[in-house]
Amino acid sequence: MTKIVNHWIGGKPVENAAGASGTYGPVTDPATGAVTTKVAFASVEEVDAAVAAAKDAYASWGTSSLAKRSAILFAFRALLDAHRDEIAALITAEHGKVHSDALGEVARGLEIVDLACGITVQLKGELSTEVASRVDVASIRQPLGVVAGITPFNFPAMVPMWMFPLAIACGNTFVLKPSEKDPSAAVRLAELFAQAGLPDGVLNVVHGDKVAVDRLLEHPDVKAVSFVGSTPIARYIHTTASANGKRVQALGGAKNHMLVLPDADLDAAADAAVSAAYGSAGERCMAISAVVAVGAIGDELVAKIRERAEQIKIGPGNDPASEMGPLITAAHRDKVASYVTGAAAQGSEVVLDGTGYTVEDHPECADGHWIGLSLLDKVPTDSDAYRDEIFGPVLCVLRVDTYDEGVALINSSPFGNGTAIFTRDGGAARRFQLEIEAGMVGVNVPIPVPVGYHSFGGWKDSLFGDHHIYGNDGTHFYTRGKVVTTRWPDPSEGPAGVDLGFPR
Ligand code: NAD
Repeated sequence: MTKIVNHWIGGKPVENAAGASGTYGPVTDPATGAVTTKVAFASVEEVDAAVAAAKDAYASWGTSSLAKRSAILFAFRALLDAHRDEIAALITAEHGKVHSDALGEVARGLEIVDLACGITVQLKGELSTEVASRVDVASIRQPLGVVAGITPFNFPAMVPMWMFPLAIACGNTFVLKPSEKDPSAAVRLAELFAQAGLPDGVLNVVHGDKVAVDRLLEHPDVKAVSFVGSTPIARYIHTTASANGKRVQALGGAKNHMLVLPDADLDAAADAAVSAAYGSAGERCMAISAVVAVGAIGDELVAKIRERAEQIKIGPGNDPASEMGPLITAAHRDKVASYVTGAAAQGSEVVLDGTGYTVEDHPECADGHWIGLSLLDKVPTDSDAYRDEIFGPVLCVLRVDTYDEGVALINSSPFGNGTAIFTRDGGAARRFQLEIEAGMVGVNVPIPVPVGYHSFGGWKDSLFGDHHIYGNDGTHFYTRGKVVTTRWPDPSEGPAGVDLGFPR
């Protein structure tokens, strides 16, 4: 029987909110290609119901004590910890990534819950006493109200957790619109948060497509929008929500480069390139999709990458032997394949061609969204495979003669999410950190995703808005500053008297 995923509004699943659209989208198991689930698509009225529930809840949550918020977050953390396996299994069933990788996703989301548990410390204000005679000045931060989050398919649990735990810890209430391709994990997180004692309406989940998103972007009671997804939609979200007077952070797509200098440990660099390019079938915004080989190391590096890539075991995510799963949809698989089939005509050398891959030892997976690993060498910078974010298991290798040429190449990309350098030369690595135009830099670390207490975010077309996500930027994004200047006259003094001038 097909499972149904409903909205979560006011602390409970909602089958038919007022004005229900009555439309559903299919959710597919990418490993088998079978539709397993129907997800409700929200109408404008259903989104309004979720925002109304969040607004009602804000009346008391916004002024709830830090101790209460923190206690509920600790309880949520314990429940999440106890349900890691279950959430990872939900991710694998709808996204397709292998179970161990899904567990890693849950762990990285949990890090942000850890951060939110410590909200008592993060929201400590600043106080200056006696800035003038008997005058004190305090800087405090207060919540915004109802905030919305719109998230992508590739991290159905982690990216929502980049947003709602911290937003809620700061005193806001939240409406989440997760990806319609793998919606179950988000609802399970909301159930667990409710079980932890979160009052009804503080976290709401509405499912759907552009109709739901557009309503959130224009709703007068939504004060801020966090978005993570592709660059064209991120740009649209930023423009539209800003025009509607909302605070926005919109994280977009990427083309992450790994610069390998001639002095690097090439075995370590090849291990890192294969892990970072093909992990989660390349469907990670921090995946390495372009390796830039400097000097004469190109042939040796490509041989080492090829040797390792050929060993990767592809199969369904629930088989512990699998290292790489399928892609999210058949249409996306076909798009990814088109970059490989068109690569030679645009000047690349096709070292590994993963198109047409079938899973031999799992007959139930014959109709899954499979593709093997592809490796393209000497990729021209004007080819589609280099210019576009492919978001699949396709690694491009480019060759340059010098460090400076490599840096210029990386800096000419419109994207600026993550980048990495592999070298034994500390001076070169230091220069790279300062010269490269990207928001997150790894030195001998291929996927430099910041830990929870530092912020995550790219530059250029990888992020629209001024705030990165989580860490200190997260707390700042989800609160607004206020400065209070106080004078309490000494009881022994008389009135100060009228003075029309500025204090001198
Ligand atoms: P997407 O942009 O297609 O969808 C993201 C969200 O926007 C979904 O909830 C979707 O329903 C909604 N949406 C899609 N089209 C819309 C439209 N026309 N109007 C309004 N809303 C719309 O992204 P995706 O395919 O789900 O995710 C993959 C993309 O996300 C990749 O580009 C990847 O790089 C990016 N990503 C970026 C980061 C980051 O931190 N920078 C992290 C994860 C994923």
